[in-house]
Amino acid sequence: MSKNHETIINNKQIISSRGKKNAVDPRQPYAWMVEKEYTTSGKIEDTAIIFLTNRECPFSCLMCDLWKNTTDESVPVGAIPDQIEWALAQMPKVKHLKLYNSGSFFDERAIPVEDYEQIASLISSFETVIVESHPKFINERCIQFSDLIKPELQVAIGLETVHPTILQKLNKQMTLEDFSNSVSFLSQNGIRSRAFILLRPPFLSESEGIYWAKKSIDFAYSAGVECCTIIPVRGSNGVMNLLMEKGDFSLCDIQSLETVVEYGIEQNNGRVFADVWDLGIFSKCDKCIDERTSRLTTMNLTQKIGSRVTCNCN
Ligand code: SF4
Ligand SMILES: [Zn+2]
Repeated sequence: MSKNHETIINNKQIISSRGKKNAVDPRQPYAWMVEKEYTTSGKIEDTAIIFLTNRECPFSCLMCDLWKNTTDESVPVGAIPDQIEWALAQMPKVKHLKLYNSGSFFDERAIPVEDYEQIASLISSFETVIVESHPKFINERCIQFSDLIKPELQVAIGLETVHPTILQKLNKQMTLEDFSNSVSFLSQNGIRSRAFILLRPPFLSESEGIYWAKKSIDFAYSAGVECCTIIPVRGSNGVMNLLMEKGDFSLCDIQSLETVVEYGIEQNNGRVFADVWDLGIFSKCDKCIDERTSRLTTMNLTQKIGSRVTCNCN
């Protein structure tokens, strides 16, 4: 652990280190795509992802860069359904949908409750809809939305890490108990949840990063989640760049991501995915990066551990 791990970085310092937001349009999602996912029924199926443009998340987590594509104020009633309708018209018809809003779907200042009915009508042809939320917004409103929609609702929650002090230092304003209570509440109401887990948050060495990511997977499954996604921490939100300069944060190595995903799949407690976006930044070896990315993508899609990559950098 780095020598500065005692330092607490507050909201003000995190926000003041930020650069400018990107220009976004409240009537259009800021991104959309279709990706393949290994589903709960063991099939590989297309999943549409709509990255909704909406008001910035009220939390300011140390590692988060999602604020870059958000608005300062709430978007008007009707804007979110317009975004969904517009994005669905650009994409092929698929069975599963992720509505990611750079914050919490159940935050009424982000997604107006008045829009729920129209959203329900737009997404009625899907089998599954996955949204994300901080535990502070997981309450009766989730049940209200789940009851209103035809597809099965799943909720993704950022567990981040179970490291006792690092979770607090991430400024997530969430305890492990909050996470477990939210997963239990959802599960008692028939809603499955998935966890986002960070690989190598600030202040941890490479081996500590691997150790705590594995512990976090164990905790998430014992709390009752159905799926875990491992996210190698990136450092491009201002404060993380500063921590990197001070030696308090380093990007993990792609091989650590492989190790953690192998561990998660071996436990056989549920699906385990690697976030494979932009993996090039996690490798210093040009020779094997493509092979390692492809190995992780295949592990995502098969939930089986593929043969290890042989390279001089091992
Ligand atoms: S709760 Fe999620 S979206 Fe909000 S600041 Fe933290 S990581 Fe970012
Ligand atoms: Zn290599």
